[in-house]
Amino acid sequence: MDLTVRGVVRRFGAVTALAGVDLAVAEGELLTILGPSGSGKTTLLKVVAGFEIPDEGTVHLGTADVTMSPPRSRDVGMVFQNYALFPHLTVAQNVAFPLEMRRLPKAEREQRVAEALALVELSQYGHRLPRQLSGGQQQRVALARAIVFKPRLLLLDEPFGALDRKLRESMQLEVRRLQRRLRLTTLFITHDQEEALILSDRIAVMSAGLIEQVGTPAEVYARPTTRFVADFVGESNLLDGIAAEGNGAEVAGLGRIQAGASAGAPGKRATLLLRPEALRVGADAASLPNRATARILETVFLGLSVKLRLQVEGGPEMLARLPLRPSAPLSMTEGEVVPLGFATEDVHVIRHG
Ligand code: ATP
Repeated sequence: MDLTVRGVVRRFGAVTALAGVDLAVAEGELLTILGPSGSGKTTLLKVVAGFEIPDEGTVHLGTADVTMSPPRSRDVGMVFQNYALFPHLTVAQNVAFPLEMRRLPKAEREQRVAEALALVELSQYGHRLPRQLSGGQQQRVALARAIVFKPRLLLLDEPFGALDRKLRESMQLEVRRLQRRLRLTTLFITHDQEEALILSDRIAVMSAGLIEQVGTPAEVYARPTTRFVADFVGESNLLDGIAAEGNGAEVAGLGRIQAGASAGAPGKRATLLLRPEALRVGADAASLPNRATARILETVFLGLSVKLRLQVEGGPEMLARLPLRPSAPLSMTEGEVVPLGFATEDVHVIRHG
């Protein structure tokens, strides 16, 4: 492992920002820390970068224990949301800055700066000042500055938060390509679950100073281990019920739901997850093992799909997401009572701790 965090605790007075974090990032991997505001993401990044010393635990880069090492000696490149470019330095001078700090000879500096600017496609902009660039270009300069000294670890803290949606999406793909091409071990922080799903080799979902689950985007989405993860990553129907004999549970209004696995000891509380895209509504529901009827409370047109908010009689409110084709608009209307159904293998059991 290239980065290993073990048992890290960081308290600020009465607040425990990190409550015992374990994390390992492999060489060349992009791992995203995903969590809501205040969950401890930035504090964890600061501990890794050396701006915070943990109260307990260790940080290793490769085999070296760097827990107490100052930031400068850690060989870590960083990009923040607010760019933090030097306003009075040109783009080329900004990118050259880490190389000057490391006292590289001028010829090598110039070559490395040219390479880094070429990587972020800003070769023609070296002489400009940051204020003469767009937000996306400034962020690319910040990225060039973070990678120009070939750091062994790249840390990105919500780097696209200030960009508009289109630009954010193109920067996400750009960073992904660059990170893969250079095989940079990268820790990426975001509260945006969509961004985490797009970018990551693996995602670590954080809540209240602890990592709840680490896995590939597909694992975290399809097989969340906790209710928090199921709710935070993607949209979900979380169905609370009582575990039944065999696989599945009894849920008010829905009856006996067949799940892909045991929901726990019969009679105990159980939670089942069903993603909105797994729910079938109308004629499509007829042949499925789990069935009910519901009233359509709301339809939201999303372009490629439509989202339905449904009220199951005597049961939960549920979300369905149905694909749309331009030639086949939704035939159902709000207020209508419709059959719904879902397959056994689409019901995922959330274990109760
Ligand atoms: P956000 O997404 O809003 O940036 P975050 O997940 O990065 O949030 P942190 O900034 O790591 O969260 O903060 C975690 C907790 O620690 C919060 O409750 C925060 O108020 C607290 N905290 C962080 N830094 C300090 C500090 N220097 N002094 C006191 N409390 C702090």
